[in-house]
Amino acid sequence: MTVFTCSNCGAAVTAVLREIPFVDEPAVHHGSGPAPSRMPPGAFARDPDRFEQPSEPTSENQTLLVPAGPALTIVVHPGDIRGLSLHPDRRRLNGCCRLDGCDGPNLVCAGCGAEIATEQSDCWVSWHDVRLDPAAVVEHRPNSEQL
Ligand SMILES: [Zn+2]
Repeated sequence: MTVFTCSNCGAAVTAVLREIPFVDEPAVHHGSGPAPSRMPPGAFARDPDRFEQPSEPTSENQTLLVPAGPALTIVVHPGDIRGLSLHPDRRRLNGCCRLDGCDGPNLVCAGCGAEIATEQSDCWVSWHDVRLDPAAVVEHRPNSEQL
C-alpha cells in the first residue's frame, strides 16, 4: 500500500492506495456530465505513455493532441486525493463546465502551493481522473505493510 506525499513539504496528497496495472481502455463516455474515473477508489496506476489529451475540437483540428504533462503520471481516483487546492492561476482552470486539464497542473498542495496534479473532469474528456506529477510527489509505504 502506498501514500503519496508532496515532495516539497511532505503533506499527504492521497489516501492509502494499492497499485494496479494501467489499462488504456477506449473512452466510454459520450454524454454530458462528468465521465467515470478509470481508477477504482483506493487504487493507482502509472500511465506508461506521455500524458496527452485531445484539445477541445475546433473546426480546423478535430484531433489536436496537447502535451499536458509528463510521462509516468500516477493516475488516481478523484475521491482519493487529499490536501490539494485548485491552482491560483485561473489560466490553469480552463474547461467547458469543469476542468479540462489541458493547461498544465491545476491542483496544488494546499500546504505549500507546489504544483502536484492535473484533474480532468470536464464534460468532454473521456475519463474523470486525477494525475499526479511523478516529480512532485514521493511514495511512502506505511510501516504496517512490513509487519
Ligand atoms: Zn506541499
